[in-house]
Order: sequence, then structure tokens, then C-alpha cells
Amino acid sequence: MCEFCHKHGEGKKWYLQAQNYSEDLLSDLRRRKFIGEFFQYPDNLEEKVGELDKLRQAPSFVRAVMTPFMLNRQKKVHYGQVVPVEDIDRILGFVNSVVRLPCMCRQVTVGSEQRYCYGVSMVPQSESQFTQILREIDAAYLTGPNTSGLETLSKELALTSIHELEKKGLCHTVWTFMAPFIGGICNCDRSDCLAMRATVTMSFPVMFRAEYVAGVNPDLCNGCRQCMRVCQFGAMGYSIAHEKVIIDPRRCYGCGICRSSCTKNAIGLDERSKIPLASRLW
Ligand code: SF4
Ligand code: SF4
Repeated sequence: MCEFCHKHGEGKKWYLQAQNYSEDLLSDLRRRKFIGEFFQYPDNLEEKVGELDKLRQAPSFVRAVMTPFMLNRQKKVHYGQVVPVEDIDRILGFVNSVVRLPCMCRQVTVGSEQRYCYGVSMVPQSESQFTQILREIDAAYLTGPNTSGLETLSKELALTSIHELEKKGLCHTVWTFMAPFIGGICNCDRSDCLAMRATVTMSFPVMFRAEYVAGVNPDLCNGCRQCMRVCQFGAMGYSIAHEKVIIDPRRCYGCGICRSSCTKNAIGLDERSKIPLASRLW
């Protein structure tokens, strides 16, 4: 179990606790202000990545002091976790509303609107309170330059869309907007997602690994290597001697994306806590 499961999940998967998506948390004025500023100023994200780049080049004693300080601050405001699609399905099972949003990271990195993010919340009415907050910030944000209308999705359509993104190799993540409130599900990749860049290539993890680790069943694997093409974390290797793929549990983030490219159903996910080599790696 990751740190957030202990802090915000009573020892269970924190992102499956309905109270962490609740209207009560979202009603907090400080949190609403934070969400407003987050969506109003996408350039702040770029600035943060610039700061991380500077930190990476700083002398080691500066990094040793500053990194834990900055990480603690990040965990209080906007932090994520990799989540396999089965748990996304569980989350969609209890939230009341889903709205599809343009991805803030892609606005910065690609410079165009890419609707890879989903705002979720627990509210009695069909329209998300997340949506209402965004509308207060700027009505045009939700309609975007090239789309018409508000994109409120049924849970079924949201899940189908997320499955399609999985086939493209995108990794699912959940995000806090001032912990423990969870307001978003994102679909990330290493080249365009600033959070994944910070985590994987800048050694500044802004997301936990999943509560799972993948493993290959050698009896089913035919060595085709299709799965290796989608792993964004460099966790897979090919054994020439055995003509099979192997997964390094120390590098696996447990996203489960590799499974969707395996026609032999040779890859499964195990609870991270049961894999000694990975149980303490987050
Ligand atoms: S895609 Fe499946 S069968 Fe092919 S190498 Fe990977 S695990 Fe083995
Ligand atoms: S090996 Fe691990 S990190 Fe790589 S795609 Fe599979 S589950 Fe994700």
C-alpha cells in the first residue's frame, strides 16, 4: 500500500474510497481556488517543469535538501497514481458524474487541445460540480476552440473511451486537487505528459506507481515482443535464451497497458505488496 492508502484510505486503496471524491471536499473554498488557478494558468505547469530541470542540474547538496521539501509540498496539492483499467472501472462505478476535459499537459507540450482527461465527482445532479467550477472560471474552457457543447459523458462511454486510449498505449492515472480530493483521471505518455516526464525522466515522482506489478506467464508467452512496444517505463526485456519476455518488477509501474497488446493473455497483474522486490517501491 502506498503512503496515500495509509493516510487517506484507511489501509485500503485510497483512490477507491468514495469520500475522496466527495462534494464535501470539493466545497472547500481553498480547494476551489486551487482548482481555478490550476486550470486558468497552464503556463504554471511549464514553469514547474523548468524549476525541476534547474533542480536536476543543481549541486547534489541542494538537490538533497530541496527534493524532499518540494515533494512533500506536491503531495499536499496535486499528486497522482498509476491505476490499471479495472480500477478505473471501479472508480466510475461509484462517482456520479464524468466530464471529458482538454489535457493541460498537452496544451503546453503539443500546443493543441487533446481531450485525454476526465473530471469525476460525487454529486447528486448529473452535471459535475467540477464542470460548474470550470464554467465559473471561463465558459470557453469547456467548449474549447473546435468543439461544441459540454462534454458530459455517461460512465459507459467514458470507460469505452479509456479502453480505446489504453489500446493506443496511454497509461491511466488518478489525480488529487489538494489531497485527498480526487478530481481527475488522466491518460499519460512519456513524451507529452509533463507529470510522466517529471516522474520518469527527471527523478521527481509526482505520481505513485500502481498498487500492482505485472508478470509474464512463460507457458503462454510466444516471444512475439508486441508488449515491449507499449511499456513506457522500460520494465520489459527479452530473454534470447528462453525466447520469452520478462518483466523487471523493480521497474514496472503496474499500469497493465502491456496486457492489451498481448493476444496470448500471457501477462497478469499481481498486488505489489506480494512481490518482495517491488513491495516498497513507489
Ligand atoms: S505480447 Fe504476450 S506473447 Fe507476445 S511477448 Fe509479450 S507476453 Fe509474450
Ligand atoms: S511491464 Fe509494467 S510498467 Fe510496463 S506496461 Fe506492463 S504493467 Fe506497465
